[in-house]
Amino acid sequence: MLDTASLIKLLAQPRKIVITTHHKPDGDAMGSSLGLYNYLIQQGHHVKVITPTDYPEFLNWLPGNGEVIIYTEQIKESADLIAAADMIFCLDFNALNRINEMGELVGGSNAVKIMIDHHLEPQDFDDYRYWDINACATAQLIYTFIVEELNNKKLINKDVATCLYTGIMTDSASFSLPKTTSAVHRIIADLIDEGAVNWQIYEQIYKNSSENRLRFLGICLSERLEVLHEFNTAVIAVTKADLEKYDVVTGDTEGIVNYALSISGVKLAAFIVERNDKVKLSLRSKGEFPANEICKKYFNGGGHRNAAGGVSTGSLEQVVTQFKLILPEYKKLLIQ
Ligand code: 5GP
Ligand code: MN
Repeated sequence: MLDTASLIKLLAQPRKIVITTHHKPDGDAMGSSLGLYNYLIQQGHHVKVITPTDYPEFLNWLPGNGEVIIYTEQIKESADLIAAADMIFCLDFNALNRINEMGELVGGSNAVKIMIDHHLEPQDFDDYRYWDINACATAQLIYTFIVEELNNKKLINKDVATCLYTGIMTDSASFSLPKTTSAVHRIIADLIDEGAVNWQIYEQIYKNSSENRLRFLGICLSERLEVLHEFNTAVIAVTKADLEKYDVVTGDTEGIVNYALSISGVKLAAFIVERNDKVKLSLRSKGEFPANEICKKYFNGGGHRNAAGGVSTGSLEQVVTQFKLILPEYKKLLIQ
């Protein structure tokens, strides 16, 4: 493992740097990646953000977005950049399977690998680690990494601040989750001082739905929501036909699970969606309930206590049944 002094020395000269983040990047993945990108380019580095897959349109306005390369759309160029990189920053994930086929390229590269992340149980593939599960977002860690480790607060400009604000706002569910401490609010205040326009960022992320998305949400809530009162659990299961009917695109399903969790008394909510070759689960929970444990144990996934995800190769119906059959094991926690 490298120490911070060695990392600072490495960054003292212009380097070829790749920044990457988990597949189907969310606001924190893109906010932290582009926040770091906008920081590093000020020091003359050659920096590219490469995402394993595409990401929601409501993130396309982030400063630096035009420079992002999507691996699945530019495989050769991505592979060349990874092979030539001196340094690879791995943000908002800590296991190489979270970046799909890029995992092999990153794992096999000789570049110095820097992991900045807030998920449980990091895999050992990195040379330098800035990791804290108490952080509410990786974007929060990018802020403290720049300010406290690299000692470079002066380079947090409007673009950096805008990206980091977006990451923190989205991963903390608009500052509502338990890890949104006073320290987070101080960072947020500082980002606003540096030029992040908080209300505009909120509008661009949350008041930017397509008409289709809203109608799809309507169907999810009126026809696909099932409340299992006995277990204080709510499930929304969506078929591939639903997705096609409403032209659902990347990002449209994001956040729908939170409506299920918003029901009074509900402790666990699941959004289960039938994709092309697999079924994807998004779990959210209130309080102490470990949503990540269910994802890890039963659905090849993981995440945080209150927000986790996983996948299954079973049919939608099988996965919904399996999920319901798991609940008795957690009944005590769910009804207390
Ligand atoms: P989402 O439900 O938004 O897809 O994911 C919620 C959280 O769970 C995210 O923080 C994400 O990192 C984590 N997560 C989602 N899917 C997976 C998965 O398949 N594996 C792991 N390890 N974590 C996941
Ligand atoms: Mn995150």
